[in-house]
Amino acid sequence: MKVLVTGGAGFIGSHLAEALLARGEGILVLDDLSTGSLQNIIHLMRRPGFEFRLGSILDMRAVDESVAACDVVYHLGAAVGVRLVFEQPVRTMETNVQGTQHVLDACLRHGRKVLIASTSEIYGKDAQSGTGRFREDDDITIGSSMRWCYATSKALDEFLARAYYADKGLPVVITRFFNTVGPRQSPAYGMVVPRFVEQALLGRPITVYGDGSQVRSFTWVGDAVEAVVRLMEVPAAEGEVFNVGSEDAVTICELAELIRGMTGLASEIVHIPYEQAYGPGFEDIHYRVPDISKLRRTVGYAPTLSLREILERMIGYTRERLGGKVQETVG
Ligand code: UDP
Repeated sequence: MKVLVTGGAGFIGSHLAEALLARGEGILVLDDLSTGSLQNIIHLMRRPGFEFRLGSILDMRAVDESVAACDVVYHLGAAVGVRLVFEQPVRTMETNVQGTQHVLDACLRHGRKVLIASTSEIYGKDAQSGTGRFREDDDITIGSSMRWCYATSKALDEFLARAYYADKGLPVVITRFFNTVGPRQSPAYGMVVPRFVEQALLGRPITVYGDGSQVRSFTWVGDAVEAVVRLMEVPAAEGEVFNVGSEDAVTICELAELIRGMTGLASEIVHIPYEQAYGPGFEDIHYRVPDISKLRRTVGYAPTLSLREILERMIGYTRERLGGKVQETVG
């Protein structure tokens, strides 16, 4: 089998490419290196069965040729991260909507099954089902500020994919990634765990935005990758949407304290107002935790690593990456 991974030089995409390669699949990565980087896949470049093509999902021909050359498609190429999107709304909408349409069209033309990567952002504001956790069949309540450009573009991707399934019989699987953590995740896009770990190891203040009562849950990237690969193997997942995340909830304040405690260092925990962190008009999501019973039911799988294990790995990885810059342990 040969597998196309669009966005395969990005954070989750590069881990997915690596995992599929390890299972003996041939891999073609299509990536324009806009938010992804060659650094993420440099270790795969010389492995037999791995191929990289520099190109955009907005280039219909590049997409068509790449899809034609493969048996199955994982579409992770997108303009990602709320901050980037806030800064470049037109580019975001174009990349996410036109790019996905190119991929779906090419998959239909060549008869390829496709996974469409979506995001927990599309749940929008804090409207939850009875359990307090987001469920796939919850209503979507997107706000009116430009922050919601990203969610809107991904919601349209989901509906497009479901329309191709319903109307044209294209086999699609849609996954909504919740907060995912692992090596090579860039702190530059605002991701809280790599930021806090780096701040703690450098002995700098740990920057909690707002009062820190906001709740998230974090999934190890290897667990998220395992979930999507299993979903693509199960016919019952076709035409369906799945949360991919962890149910292990934590407040951002607790996260900061946990990371500080685990590094054994004495960084100060500081609170930064949202306006200062994101600029005016930013709305944070107070409670974001998935209900993953549908994933469990469909593939018999749930993330394996606890928050503490995830943080242990991230601290180890970041310590190595920062080398001599890491502060001496106190106490
Ligand atoms: N956050 C924080 N300090 C940081 C970066 C993020 O307090 O330095 C908060 C952010 O406001 C959000 C949570 O951590 O409430 C998760 O942020 P992230 O950007 O990782 O993901 P999101 O869930 O917002 O997509």
